[in-house]
Order: sequence, then C-alpha cells, then structure tokens
Amino acid sequence: MSAARGAELDVAVVGAGIAGLSAAAELRRAGHTVRVFEAADRVGGRMRSLRRAGFTVDEGAEQISTQGYRATWQLLRRLGVRPPEVPRIGRGVGVWRGGRAHPGVGSPRAQLTGAGLSPRARLDLTRFLVWTARQGAALDADRPERGPLGARTLAEFAGQYHPELHDYLFQPLTGAFFGWDPAESCAGPAVSLLREVGPVSAWRTYRNGMDMVARRLAAGLDVVCDSQVREVTVDGDVARLTVGERTLTARAVVLAVPAPVAARLRPDAPEVERSFLAACDFTPMLKVSCPLERPLAPPGGDSLYVLLTPRVEEDTLAGIVLDHAKHPGRVPPGRGLVSLIASPHQLPELLTAPRAEVIDLLTRAAERYLPGLNATRTNAWVHAFEHGLPAATPAALARRGAFHDRPLGPVEYAGDWVLLRPASEGAVRSAALAAARVLARLASTTAGPSALATPRHP
Ligand SMILES: Cc1cc2nc3c(=O)[nH]c(=O)nc-3n(C[C@H](O)[C@H](O)[C@H](O)COP(=O)(O)OP(=O)(O)OC[C@H]3O[C@@H](n4cnc5c(N)ncnc54)[C@H](O)[C@@H]3O)c2cc1C
Repeated sequence: MSAARGAELDVAVVGAGIAGLSAAAELRRAGHTVRVFEAADRVGGRMRSLRRAGFTVDEGAEQISTQGYRATWQLLRRLGVRPPEVPRIGRGVGVWRGGRAHPGVGSPRAQLTGAGLSPRARLDLTRFLVWTARQGAALDADRPERGPLGARTLAEFAGQYHPELHDYLFQPLTGAFFGWDPAESCAGPAVSLLREVGPVSAWRTYRNGMDMVARRLAAGLDVVCDSQVREVTVDGDVARLTVGERTLTARAVVLAVPAPVAARLRPDAPEVERSFLAACDFTPMLKVSCPLERPLAPPGGDSLYVLLTPRVEEDTLAGIVLDHAKHPGRVPPGRGLVSLIASPHQLPELLTAPRAEVIDLLTRAAERYLPGLNATRTNAWVHAFEHGLPAATPAALARRGAFHDRPLGPVEYAGDWVLLRPASEGAVRSAALAAARVLARLASTTAGPSALATPRHP
C-alpha cells in the first residue's frame, strides 16, 4: 500500500453504491489507500435490498442482462460470483391493452405475436429493429452524444413511426424502467441501451438481492457508513472533504453520487464540470412492494415477470414487477411478492406524501391488473428515490462531450449519469473510467506533469 503523500488518504470515495464501490476496489487493487464514505447506514445505494420475514425485496434495480453488461460481468468474474448466483429470470414482459396483458414485449418474436401492437404497428416495429441493427458501432452507449440520433427526444424519434410504437412500447418501457417522459429525454441513450441488452429472455437477477455485489465489494474495502460528506474543495494538488464536523485530505476524490448531489458538494468545480452537472437532471422513482399470501398474475399474464401499464391506459402506475417470478427462494414457499411502480406523472409529489396515502393510491390502482391484491397482501413497503435515473435530456447530451474530454483533476466522478445511461452497467463502466483517470493522475503527480494524459474509455 502506498503512503498518502502530504494527505491523509490517497483516495476518498463518496458514495457506496455500485459505482463508488467498484471504483474503490479498482484503486485498492492498484495499491492505494482508499476509504469510502456513505451517508446511509448500509451500502448498495439504488441497488439496495430489503429482507423481511423470508421475502427479499429489491428496492431499486431489479435485473441485469447477459448482454450489454460487459463491465458488470467482468466485475462479477473478478469477485468470483458463480453463474447460479445470477439466475436467468425466464419470464417475459407484457403490456396492458384492452383489458388484458399482452406478453412478448422485447422478444425476438414480438413482430409475430404482436406484444400489444396492431399489424400496421408491427410493420413499423420491424422498420425500427432493422434501422437499429444497421447502425452498428454508431449507436455507442459509451459516447451517446456522438450517435446518429443527435439530441432528438424519444417522442420526436417515435414520431416517424406508427403512434402505437410510442404509446405501447417506448413510453411504457422507459416510463416503468427509467421514470422517463419521452418528450423530455433523448432517444439515443435509450435506443442504444435497448439494443445492447438484447431480448428479455437474456435478463438475469442476483439470487440474494440486487445488493449482493455491493455487499461483496464492501467486505474487502474500508467503508464508513452513516458518514455524510458535506463539501469537497480543491487546494492545490490536494482535495479536502468535510465529513460531519471533520475535514480530511486526500490526493484524489471520486464523487460517486447522483449528479445533483455532486453539484451541491462541489460548488467550486471548473465550468466544464459544473455545466454538465447542472444539466444532468434525474427522474424520481417510487415503488410499493407488497408481500402476498399467494402469487397473483394479471389476466393474460401467467408467463410474465413485468407488466407495463402505458400512460394511454393508466395514470397512476407505470408498471408492476412480479418479484416472486424472479427465481425460487425469493419468497417463502407458496407466497407472492409484487412491486408497483408509480407513474412518472405522479412524481415528484408522491415522494413527500404520507406513506399510507401512497400505498392506498398505488394498491387501489393495481387492483385492475391484479384482482384480489388488497385482500391478499399482508404488508406494503415504500421505496422512494429522489434521484432515480439520469433523465438524459438534450441539455445534458449537449454538454457531455466537453465533460468527457475535460483534463484530469483531483476530483473525479462516477455514476450512471456520467454516461447518461439509465442502468447499473453505466455506473460500473463509469467507475472503471474514473479509476483509470485517478490512477493516471496519481502516477503523473508522482512522475511530474509531463506524464499527464487523459485515459481512453476502458
Ligand atoms: C427504481 C429503480 C429501478 C432500477 N432498475 C434497474 C434495473 O433493473 N437494472 C439496472 O441495471 N439498473 C436499474 N436501475 C439503475 C441502477 O440502480 C443505478 O444505475 C445504479 O444503482 C447507480 O449506482 P451509483 O453507484 O451510480 O449511484 P447510487 O446507487 O445512487 O449510489 C450513490 C450513493 O451515494 C450515497 N450518498 C449520496 N450523497 C452522499 C453524501 N453527501 N455523502 C456520502 N454518501 C452519499 C447514497 O446514499 C448512495 O449509497 C434502477 C434504479 C432505480 C431507482
């Protein structure tokens, strides 16, 4: 382990979500002294899980995919995670239309089976799929600002296709999984992500809860929970952190918190950083998880894992996750578990509403899709995220290129928002990039300024 030259630590990481912890592990592996400060009482951030009476509830993220999660799978291999610990979900996604669930969303057979789309709209689905396949490397999820879709919003992009593609595919998918409004968020990041993750049949989840990787990473690191960082400033080559009442120094800091939090913590950031941070809006997310006396399924949706409830059909819910379908052992034998995702249009107001009101609103709306829900549920837990997912707005996309090309500095950033990718893979990829930038700078400040070079994306 190297000594921290003139500073108490080599690297301080702020935030023990998947981004902060994977960056910390990488820097620790390179021999540096690293400490992770986490405001909450446990690690995981938006990938945390709750365990109650034999139920394992994923409060934020639900699944990863065999495809499109390259950095995540590299991390899993390094941690020695075995394939049975990441089981395939094996059930599909459906969309609600005309009083019943239509399975097959995100399936290669959707053009044949329909997935809730009329024959005319299916032709346009084929047109869309052919177009995305033809884009090849141009649809680069790591450099979304360079893609062929430019700053067009998802609603503008969808406008060239049959309206059902917006109403029964793009809006419900991005509304339920990212909390997006298609009129506000860019098409590029969504289309490249959907293409990378492949069909729903490739989706997997962590057997013991989505916090499994965070907990495993934290076990090998110096992580201090219940430690809210209040400010990060730069003094020459050294960064200063205010943690509670204490000030610490570090040769480098990785801010692995959502962009609006990073902006608050770092008021003296250089303009190129401040302007991207300010443009990186987040969508809020809220879910209510209900343990059930027995599993329930929506009409027509026995084979489903997720039911999407489009805005044109429903104003309160964006979708329903049938958690008990993830894998055996998620719930006690014979029991069920579902998570009701609030519609983006109910947010952010619901974040501050009394919990009993939130539960009442969402569970009453869900009766339409899961008849008997309220008679069958034994409890309800609310999970609210002010900063749910990066919104990937045109303003953020416009500023990302300059942010990406910024010079190395004592403060680096990690998180899904760095790549404007609304998924945990974005957080893990950004962490590898942040770690590479910190290592390049620490090496250069040891070797002299001539060694300064911005590392390329790993
Ligand atoms: C409801 C929901 C569903 C999702 N579904 C999926 C999915 O199915 N698949 C998928 O791949 N992704 C999903 N995501 C996205 C995924 O959860 C995130 O991309 C990922 O967890 C982000 O990790 P992160 O480390 O960048 O940020 P975070 O997980 O937000 O970590 C930041 C950490 O910093 C801490 N912190 C904040 N402020 C401070 C401070 N001042 N001092 C110290 N610590 C601080 C926070 O407590 C937190 O632990 C979902 C997200 C949500 C909200």
